[in-house]
Amino acid sequence: MTHLSERKKLAAARRVVVKIGSRVLVQRDGRPDTRRMAALVDGIAALHREGREIIVVSSGAIACGLQALGMKKRPADLPSLQMAAAVGQSRLMAAYDRLFVRKKCRIGQVLLTHDDLEHRRRHLNARNSMLKLLEHGVIPIVNENDVVSVDEIKFGDNDALASRTAMLVEADLLVLLTTVNGFRATDAKGCSRKIDFLPGVTSETLAHAKGKGSEFSTGGMASKLTSAAEAARMGTAVVIANGRQEGILQKIVSGTSDGTLIPAAETASDANKALNHRRRWVAFFHHAHGRITVDDGARDALLKRGKSLLPVGIREVSGDFAPGDLVDIHDLAGQRIAQGLSEYSSAEVRLLKGLQTGKILDLLGADAPGEVIHRDNLVVPT
Ligand code: GLU
Repeated sequence: MTHLSERKKLAAARRVVVKIGSRVLVQRDGRPDTRRMAALVDGIAALHREGREIIVVSSGAIACGLQALGMKKRPADLPSLQMAAAVGQSRLMAAYDRLFVRKKCRIGQVLLTHDDLEHRRRHLNARNSMLKLLEHGVIPIVNENDVVSVDEIKFGDNDALASRTAMLVEADLLVLLTTVNGFRATDAKGCSRKIDFLPGVTSETLAHAKGKGSEFSTGGMASKLTSAAEAARMGTAVVIANGRQEGILQKIVSGTSDGTLIPAAETASDANKALNHRRRWVAFFHHAHGRITVDDGARDALLKRGKSLLPVGIREVSGDFAPGDLVDIHDLAGQRIAQGLSEYSSAEVRLLKGLQTGKILDLLGADAPGEVIHRDNLVVPT
């Protein structure tokens, strides 16, 4: 895998998610930067004309709302932020609509919360409606539904929302547009240099990431890298680039941008697609509600032999979870080795831990699942 060949491959990207951060869209004084927005819409429309399917994930609702309401500072309380999002989201969409109509493109608003994508049925509904929009040549404009979103059901920031959107529709390319030319790392002498090609994001890489967001935005470089690494692991190439650069989207798809490229991991074979889709939903659309610590035998069964998690190998249970909730699985050394959806509640797993499967059936009846986490609902990090 060479840098140049990976960059050239981007020309073939058919389905592209473009994430536009608040700082790209909004000027320092909080007013929307309509010229920048128009330039990006031109770029998106050009990619669309080339026959690509485009999904835009746009921030800026809160920033536009603050400006419309004459609020100079970002309020600290949630209801005021939700009010700003309600006012700003419609202004944002009105601005996009005006610009896209001129380019003869149709757009559709998609507002999501993390909660929507965690529930299997709503997850599939969101995916189906997004695919329907694409099939009809409509450009979905996605944002977090900030008006109803509270911390417990939030994606966190729009970088995370963009990577989840890329996974939801199995995008070929995710472009994270920000106000710098890519990710910069600092060497031992304290010199910083831009990284053009990043085949893996490690904890060391993340330590170099600077910037924590601003008055108008929540993500920073660390959240961009984490989201990029997750999308790349699931088969989407990611470019972090400067949204203020002229013709940036064209440069990216022609392989000539100076942004940071995080190449896609080898995609899974078609035979595994359905199972992978389910595992992706398990791993990336859930918050963990508890933790199960397993012994060495269970650890090997999960990691080396591809087995389900049985009660006999469970040593400890912490947290409060219900059947169907996501739990982290740790080994005796305290390392997280897997995640999965539990068949049982935390109270039940506490009762069952250490028991042979036969005993469970005696206790709970022959119809009870013999495993605590079925293999199909289990994700082992690669
Ligand atoms: N959803 C927020 C907005 O539209 C932005 C969140 C973010 O920038 O990460 O204002």
